[in-house]
Amino acid sequence: MSTNLLEFDLDGLAAFCERLGEKRFRATQLFRWIHQRGASDFEAMSDLAKALRDKLKGCARVEALPVISEHVSSDGTVKWLFDVGDGNAVEAVFIPEDDRGTLCVSSQAGCAVGCRFCSTGHQGFSRNLATGEIVAQLWFAEHSLRKRLQTEERVISNVVMMGMGEPLQNYSALVPALKVMLDDHGYGLSRRRVTVSTSGVVPMMDRLSQDCPVALAVSLHAPNDPLRDNLVPLNRKYPISELLDACNRYLRHAPRDFITFEYCMLDGVNDQVEHARQLIELVKRTGIRCKFNLIPFNPFPASGLLRSPHNQVQAFAKMLSDAGIITTVRKTRGDDIDAACGQLAGDVKDRTRAAERMAKQRTIVLKPVT
Ligand code: SF4
Repeated sequence: MSTNLLEFDLDGLAAFCERLGEKRFRATQLFRWIHQRGASDFEAMSDLAKALRDKLKGCARVEALPVISEHVSSDGTVKWLFDVGDGNAVEAVFIPEDDRGTLCVSSQAGCAVGCRFCSTGHQGFSRNLATGEIVAQLWFAEHSLRKRLQTEERVISNVVMMGMGEPLQNYSALVPALKVMLDDHGYGLSRRRVTVSTSGVVPMMDRLSQDCPVALAVSLHAPNDPLRDNLVPLNRKYPISELLDACNRYLRHAPRDFITFEYCMLDGVNDQVEHARQLIELVKRTGIRCKFNLIPFNPFPASGLLRSPHNQVQAFAKMLSDAGIITTVRKTRGDDIDAACGQLAGDVKDRTRAAERMAKQRTIVLKPVT
């Protein structure tokens, strides 16, 4: 079986080329052909020696994931569903804005964290994606968009690891994929424009700060441990105080001087005045430099949860802003193609029976904290 070269960051590709008896600069040329020009046919890589092209044809390939479907929203958002084999599928979403093009990328088929409000979490966990499967989402999106828009300019300026899965639970595949995104010979994205979103895997946050410090978003979703235990089950392992300590440590290495806290607004559950007060108190007490991103929940029947009314979201945002915390409300994009946040569900075989566990959990009544 030949090796898919999308699996490698530049160091990995250099090691691969070395095994073929080739120097590092050949790997750099090859890397640029693949990622900057979207080439998959070795014969088209005209500045590579014929002998190398022949060697590559015998042992390597550049292969995207098969596309199951592509949907284009009226607002320009594009959602792809990719086949990752064995009955599993993952999604990537491109969100165009005036000043940027953002690709939301998946890191796992399903997710084992099982957040209550997350459609992916409800499907359970199937498997980690390989580095090549993470990179393939960007490779395909960037080069197919360039063709569609008839441009040779870069289309994707930002990547957010906020698709299906908890990226920090797939650390060894994630880091080389991030390196491909950042590499000047690859996509050349700035560290500030690549964001890893985590539900709070504390030890891996520390490792990421050393290995590849990119921008960090943390799925907070609750201002106190009892409520967060229920909404984000990982909180039972890494409670809020440990999580915020880890955020503060991360900030010493981060390319941005704040952490983004994601907060999904759930009607009557975490959107009350008292919750805003508790958040303000938490931020003041820990001194954490942060921004809040309030996310209107995208309801799905299995969750048993509802979207907070618009006025409630605005009032909540105002309370945080009035307390000096920069707060934005996420615009929902791609609603008409189910590409909004928390709607990336793909099609996943639940091998950890997470869906079953969550069905049991649903019998627990969530009460607003007083
Ligand atoms: S919100 Fe993220 S961590 Fe939580 S279940 Fe969904 S994909 Fe997993």
